[in-house]
Amino acid sequence: MFDVVAIGAGMAGLICARQLRLAGYSVAVVEKSRGPGGRVATRRVQGSRADHGARYLERRGEAVQALIDVLVDRQILKLWTDIVAEFRQAEMFSIPSDCYVAPAGMNAVGKYIAEGLDIWYGRRVKTLARTDSQMWRISLEVTDDNLETPQELFAKAVVVAIPAPQALMFLDSEIGCSRDFLDKLRSVEYDPCMTVMAGYSAERESDLSNLNPQWKSVSFPDNSDLAWVGWDSSKRLDPQQPVFVVHSSASFADRHLESTDLPTVGQELLDRTSEYLMPWLNQPEWLQVHRWRYAFCRNPLPVSCLPAEGILPLVCAGDLCGEGQIEAALRSGLAAASWVNSQLQNLPLDSSFK
Ligand SMILES: Cc1cc2nc3c(=O)[nH]c(=O)nc-3n(C[C@H](O)[C@H](O)[C@H](O)COP(=O)(O)OP(=O)(O)OC[C@H]3O[C@@H](n4cnc5c(N)ncnc54)[C@H](O)[C@@H]3O)c2cc1C
Repeated sequence: MFDVVAIGAGMAGLICARQLRLAGYSVAVVEKSRGPGGRVATRRVQGSRADHGARYLERRGEAVQALIDVLVDRQILKLWTDIVAEFRQAEMFSIPSDCYVAPAGMNAVGKYIAEGLDIWYGRRVKTLARTDSQMWRISLEVTDDNLETPQELFAKAVVVAIPAPQALMFLDSEIGCSRDFLDKLRSVEYDPCMTVMAGYSAERESDLSNLNPQWKSVSFPDNSDLAWVGWDSSKRLDPQQPVFVVHSSASFADRHLESTDLPTVGQELLDRTSEYLMPWLNQPEWLQVHRWRYAFCRNPLPVSCLPAEGILPLVCAGDLCGEGQIEAALRSGLAAASWVNSQLQNLPLDSSFK
């Protein structure tokens, strides 16, 4: 039995769990995938690493700034570039912007926040129920066959730090959620994104050494298919080969979301990329595609977190609450920690990162 169970080991769930654990609560985190970070994600592919989720951190917002300062100090993050490119109306524009990345992969951010936490990976929350002794019973489905018990956890309070459509799979009126609370969750919408990771022959390295530095990160704000292209291997300390990451536009992802032939979808995106940047970008040695069904929250709720009133302590958090994506997720996780604390023992909470 735990004081608190946080569902989801993304930025919101992790920072919330960390604050509550530091205050002295017993906390468990349940995560359906095999590692921490959520959409701040890195994949190992063909001996390289590729950040297929969040691209970088920028000093926009207090919570992200504090996290950047700590992680730069610990040499987990470094400044990747101070100028990015935007391709608009067939022209390339330069925009000053400090972008911080983790040479070991952006999931190093989640790994840092997760240190010391009790995280149950490879388990998806299937149902929530109230027990007779006024506790939450959290039933888990094992998503990794190698894992064993537990199948259930019990907690005084639950933090639901996952995208709204996934939360609505187990939050309903039967467990006492009000219509107003459920309507708010149902109103939240997300844009999808298809991400291609592509590796190229080491010979291309010489072309890249002449590359305009602002081309490390190129956004395409008005393109029907492309949203962003990043020279991912330039984030690494010892790149094995050139690797690029391409994010599709939401409309491209909508069109291809249910495709069963992801390599062809990825090749189509690389074909488009090669029209604007280097022509050889459509001839990778390998490519992988990741489908993000809930990539970017389109219409976040104007609240710092969303408590379910009138039942046992339960609160939703994440980038569905407030503007700013990673900043919103962090702030919302901190707000959820504060709300849970107010429902339990009102212990002193330290809101700084260490
Ligand atoms: C391609 C891409 C690029 C991005 N680039 C940027 C960027 O440059 N800057 C920026 O600020 N933001 C960016 N974002 C957005 C940013 O990553 C998110 O806003 C932020 O990470 C959301 O954090 P979160 O904690 O709210 O949710 P998530 O990161 O989605 O975490 C939720 C976690 O819950 C888990 N989960 C879901 N359902 C269950 C369940 N039933 N049981 C157990 N676990 C479950 C998931 O596996 C996940 O790990 C990007 C996102 C994507 C996809």
